[in-house]
Amino acid sequence: MNKERIPTIYPVMEHFATVQGEGFHTGKAAYFIRLGGCDVGCHWCDVKESWPLDNHNSMSVDDIISAIGQSGLKTIVITGGEPTMYDLEPLTEAIKTKGYSLHIETSGAHELTGSWDWITLSPKKFKLPKSNIYKKAHELKVIVYHKSDFDFAEAHAKKVNEKCLLYLQPEWSKKEKSMELIVSYIQKNPEWRISLQTHKYLNIP
Ligand code: SF4
Repeated sequence: MNKERIPTIYPVMEHFATVQGEGFHTGKAAYFIRLGGCDVGCHWCDVKESWPLDNHNSMSVDDIISAIGQSGLKTIVITGGEPTMYDLEPLTEAIKTKGYSLHIETSGAHELTGSWDWITLSPKKFKLPKSNIYKKAHELKVIVYHKSDFDFAEAHAKKVNEKCLLYLQPEWSKKEKSMELIVSYIQKNPEWRISLQTHKYLNIP
């Protein structure tokens, strides 16, 4: 495994209290930790400023725990960037010790480390997930940018466990067209649900 070995310090692009906007936990208050660094390279990415490794402040696990504590929130979401670039064991161990519910949003491009209450796997064509994350995922969320993404979604749905929830989410810049396609698809394939980026409609982070 080729991880960035930084046991107690992580590059944090931003951290903030908000409401989970996407997927099964939509509408739930949560504290987001956005780790910096991503090597996946989605051309439609809406957080390209997260990509460079050197662009971000370092935070110790203690500082992260302190920020979470001040928020008073109980659900913590680790996102990116691509959080699996790092060894997440020290971070998750510290957060879990405090009794928080810990979620991750990942493309699965690197081996997943750490202990999680909820794993959102959002595979990307540009760097496919590692094989052993599929059975661990609680929800599969595929971004629909082009019609071909439905085939991509089905191919990945075959690999997840039988309890894994299946979501299709319109890519924001093409959301009107994609929503139309997704609604039509879901009516024919009701095992899928639609996920909307509701935080963007609410104009919150
Ligand atoms: Fe952006 Fe996420 Fe794709 Fe990385 S994996 S390029 S952060 S959308």
